[in-house]
Amino acid sequence: MSALSAYLTDPFLHDLYTQIRQAGPVRSISLDLTHECNLRCTGCYYFAEGMDAMVDTGTNLDQEFARFVQREKERGTNFITIVGGEPSLRLDRLKVIYDNFKMNVATNGLVRIPYEGFEEMPLGVAVWGDHETDANLRGTGKRDLFRIALANYKDDARAFFYYTVAPGKSAEIEKVVRQCVENGNKVLFNYYCDLSHLGGAYDYHAGFGKVRAEIDRMIELYPQHILTTAYFNQVITSGRLYDQRWGYEVCTNVSTNFPYNQQRLENGNPYNPHFRAYNADFNSTRRCCTGIHRSCDSCFDAWEHFSWIMVNMKKHLGSKEEFTRWLTSMYMFYYINRLLLQQPEAGIVARIHALLQAMPTPA
Ligand code: SF4
Ligand code: SF4
Repeated sequence: MSALSAYLTDPFLHDLYTQIRQAGPVRSISLDLTHECNLRCTGCYYFAEGMDAMVDTGTNLDQEFARFVQREKERGTNFITIVGGEPSLRLDRLKVIYDNFKMNVATNGLVRIPYEGFEEMPLGVAVWGDHETDANLRGTGKRDLFRIALANYKDDARAFFYYTVAPGKSAEIEKVVRQCVENGNKVLFNYYCDLSHLGGAYDYHAGFGKVRAEIDRMIELYPQHILTTAYFNQVITSGRLYDQRWGYEVCTNVSTNFPYNQQRLENGNPYNPHFRAYNADFNSTRRCCTGIHRSCDSCFDAWEHFSWIMVNMKKHLGSKEEFTRWLTSMYMFYYINRLLLQQPEAGIVARIHALLQAMPTPA
């Protein structure tokens, strides 16, 4: 009996694995739905590298968009992460994506994406700290964007807060999470990169040790509401996956049609063979979703790390515990993005956290 078959004699693991297999493989891309945004957040990767300037507004972008959708359907794309720019400013395009692909969308929460017509859409709503920190980073110190987002998505089952935490802001985590939970939303964590070089509490070089510990504590406090698992939290904050260290040479979500990436694709490390990061001209691609030239040392993006774990199943076959960490990471990705064909059991998120907590902490 193979190691995998042996691990799958566990009924719960077998059930999770079967649900993923039934949903099928993900052939994903990312897309900037628009180059426009109604904010200018401090440390936004999109504007830090001038990605909005890569769009030729002299072309008919709506026609390009229609051609893009057709091409990607023919190419077999079945999942799109929608970023930008601010996707809620182009509900017409968002609706076309929603009607043709599985997808998720990252929004700043300022303009509510309506329920009608977008009923099952996974929505990651940005928050970057408590009301004061978030307003300072995203609202030029004046607008309480977190309050607006909470009101826009109160008790909205589609929405989870995509909470980006800076290294020196761990003390804010509990009160932010509590407000999200009391608002009827779940929370997925992201980690602040400080692309604007604010330094101090925002400097990622300080490490995310305290943030990691606090997120682990949130998992214990709110097990049904935290979408980040302890293993996932550990991989991102340590930048390690077995013998590998996070960075460009192992990054799995690089555009496979982008010449710059050729050497990476040939270095023997697994990658997502379908992936492309499309600019808002709906034609050109760039190195990766979150950058063109930025240092990969500054990259703590949750979606990229999900992919890193997901394509590395083989590394996790050494024991049942390791396989469980891989499988539950995989399952959370499918769960968050509503890719599973059947309704997940009530309490599944808490059950996964409990399973991981009962296992020894990985080295
Ligand atoms: S809302 Fe998003 S795209 Fe707009 S400036 Fe902020 S981080 Fe950048
Ligand atoms: S910035 Fe992140 S996603 Fe982009 S190539 Fe570097 S490691 Fe990969």
